[in-house]
Amino acid sequence: MIPFNVPPFVGTETKYINDVIEKRKICGDGEYTKKCNEWLENKTGSAKVLLTTSCTHATEMAALLCDIQPGDEVIMPSYTFVSTADAFVLRGAKAVFVDIRPDTMNIDETKIEAAITDKTKAIVPVHYAGVSCEMDAIMDIAKRHNLLVVEDAAQGIMSTYKGKALGTIGDFGAFSFHETKNYSMGEGGALLLKNPKDIELAEIIREKGTNRAKFFRGQIDKYTWVEAGSSYLPSELNAAYLYGQLEQADKIFDDRMNSWNKYYEAFKDLADAGKIELPIIPEGCEHNAHMFYIKCKDLKERSELISYAKENDILMVFHYIPLHTAPAGKKYGRFNGEDVYTTKESERLVRLPLYYGLTDEDHAKVIKVVKDFYANR
Ligand SMILES: *Cc1c(COP(=O)(O)O)cnc(C)c1O
Repeated sequence: MIPFNVPPFVGTETKYINDVIEKRKICGDGEYTKKCNEWLENKTGSAKVLLTTSCTHATEMAALLCDIQPGDEVIMPSYTFVSTADAFVLRGAKAVFVDIRPDTMNIDETKIEAAITDKTKAIVPVHYAGVSCEMDAIMDIAKRHNLLVVEDAAQGIMSTYKGKALGTIGDFGAFSFHETKNYSMGEGGALLLKNPKDIELAEIIREKGTNRAKFFRGQIDKYTWVEAGSSYLPSELNAAYLYGQLEQADKIFDDRMNSWNKYYEAFKDLADAGKIELPIIPEGCEHNAHMFYIKCKDLKERSELISYAKENDILMVFHYIPLHTAPAGKKYGRFNGEDVYTTKESERLVRLPLYYGLTDEDHAKVIKVVKDFYANR
């Protein structure tokens, strides 16, 4: 069976994890966490990056830093992972869903303004497949309406919009290092901070509401409970695993991009013949080969393709049942405007196997099976 995903492993992870164990420094915020934070700051240009236990938790921290209160509204796409909404709903906010653009599957920036009310506090663009949302337009709307912007850049590490790293454009950005993402620590994430005023509070929230970070820097002589917080810092064991991969980030990036490009080239003729649609990367967006998807004619054809692939030992998957149609989405959210593309486009999309180390042989087999499927259609 050709799996849909294999978590990345470059080889140095074991050495670094052993180092953590031998030094008996397994709790959070040690040497490897610091190395990861610095690596991410240097790579993205973010003022401050804090490694977290997940992207969900990084987004929860952003919701706390935005001071989201019960009754506030937060605008986001419905075509996203549940965490985007959960982080704000946990604080009592209502998720206000807006339709997506059919080309990138990202929030339709032209439909955001109509969803704004006097309760709106923030906009949460999700950079689907590591392809940026129209951030200039979104930041302009946020500025004019005095709203905060939290980028769900779970899939967007190493991607850019007009030269800027995803996650660094809004007030807050969140990365994921889940095992399905380009770089992994099993479960983990990072919060990217832009505004100096948020940094100290973010450190406090992440450390159970204490000013422990300041204490460790020698800025105060004892630490105490100063705010409401939680425990959002990962173990050094996880950070060590991630650091091994960040050190070889380009190698992983190049390998994925090579697979992505080969898929794209191979399926051009099917797209030209009008049988499928291929991903669209808008001008100004550099992506990270997080995902390769194709769009079938409709839901029925997609189910047939997934079954056909399975018969041929290939795992293809779809995802994101639109949040506004889910039980919790109905309870905690509302869809603003009309669902023109969210449901329709999500039903056509299928993801092909793409991971670091996908062999040429397996890659060629996936291409052949898709081509065979469409040969008589
Ligand atoms: C993976 C993902 C998340 C959640 O990441 P975790 O690290 O598992 O919490 C959130 N949003 C999007 C768009 C994702 O793809």
